[in-house]
Amino acid sequence: MLFMLNSAQFIAVSGLLLVALASGLVGYGVRHWRKGRLGGDDQAVSQLTGALKSKEVQAEILIESITDGIIVVDTKNTITLINKAAGRMAGWPINEAMGLDARVVLQLIKDEVSGEVVADSEHPFTLILQKRTPFRRTLQLRSRDNKKLFISLVISPVILPKNNELMGAVAVFRDVSEQRKEEQKHAEFISTASHEMRTPIAAIEGYLALALNDHVSHIDEKAREYLQKAHSSTKLLGNLFQDLLTSAKAEDGRLANHPVVVELGTLVEQLVEDMRFGAQKKSLEVEFLINSGGKDTDFIDASGSSNLKVIQPLYYVKADPDRLREVITNLFDNAIKYTDQGKVSVGITGNEEVVQIRVTDTGSGIPPEDLPHLFQKFYRVDNSATRSIGGTGLGLFICRKIIELYSGSIWAESAVGKGSTFYINLPRLSTAQAAQSQLSENPPLISPTPSKVL
Ligand code: ADP
Repeated sequence: MLFMLNSAQFIAVSGLLLVALASGLVGYGVRHWRKGRLGGDDQAVSQLTGALKSKEVQAEILIESITDGIIVVDTKNTITLINKAAGRMAGWPINEAMGLDARVVLQLIKDEVSGEVVADSEHPFTLILQKRTPFRRTLQLRSRDNKKLFISLVISPVILPKNNELMGAVAVFRDVSEQRKEEQKHAEFISTASHEMRTPIAAIEGYLALALNDHVSHIDEKAREYLQKAHSSTKLLGNLFQDLLTSAKAEDGRLANHPVVVELGTLVEQLVEDMRFGAQKKSLEVEFLINSGGKDTDFIDASGSSNLKVIQPLYYVKADPDRLREVITNLFDNAIKYTDQGKVSVGITGNEEVVQIRVTDTGSGIPPEDLPHLFQKFYRVDNSATRSIGGTGLGLFICRKIIELYSGSIWAESAVGKGSTFYINLPRLSTAQAAQSQLSENPPLISPTPSKVL
């Protein structure tokens, strides 16, 4: 029914279940006992009713004692349960919040700079009831009295296992503003330090390149060998500082981000062409597959001069193309880095709601126990292959942060010795939505009304 709950959620949900079970079972027991023994023993009835009450009271105490906020909604997003902690964070007395639309009570901020709130249609409560998949993210909440706090929010659909019926959703959230402040200070320090260190590193790299240049310097073979090693280590250090700077910016929301409507089919195909050379240096085959499955609704007629019509779907998303390039390049570079022979294949497909990009390789693969940690900061699989291959363990963390900026998801599937596939899902725009969005990005130039010639 509900999956992947943390301990607080588990207690909360157990509490809710306790209420439901206590009400349901004891109520059922009372009714049936009455049916069977009409005019019978009142004492037993009152014992059962007492038991029900005490279970309800227990559950209520339990829910109110939890310091995490809990909101339960039905299938219309109407609040059927809200605890004190949730009311306090959202700025609503619980008796006023009960029965209201949860999206009114839990107002989430979409844009930290402008303070714009998430529209009802994009609100996680709406999405959960549509998609029936859990939602987890740290977001900013705007309380009723206009205070802003960061919350770590998990919303799970409540589904009856018996008939798969959707009953509503349960949200559990926690104030992480203090933690967030600490993280921001930390990120600021890393970003300043790495920024300062990038300049001398670039200078060292430049001078080493000059020392290795035959036209400028004369050095013996031994010195060349040493300088080449120093040069490649300096390059690695430069990459590390660049990655550190990017990840610090991604963490405190300072990553340059200018989302526009992007047609991903064209962008990914272009990128694969640009990256083909890197794969060929390792004699790896490169493949690009567009519309490899899925249901497509928006098509362009890409027929050339021949009679044969080639139908190519359009995969529109709203994102910063530079950031997307960074993500796809990273996945492609990793595929090359961790593959000795075979093929790197990039595919793009989609349905009405999402565009999916995948990067598949025939490389070393990733052990199952490492898969859940790959997108954490500095995580590297510890094996002989990764020890000999340079890397910072920050690439996939940065990828995740970027994809989350656009409400997307990123994950990996892999089998050791067989290869890996990295997937990205991004919310898809229909052709009509894309056209409308493009229009607001570039409003048509209105020609001035010609002045009347008298
Ligand atoms: P790195 O700089 O170490 O490559 P990443 O964050 O990009 O950092 O990747 C994290 C770790 O995930 C890598 O160290 C590697 O162990 C593993 N990894 C990533 N991509 C692949 C892949 N295509 N095949 C095998 N292992 C991979």
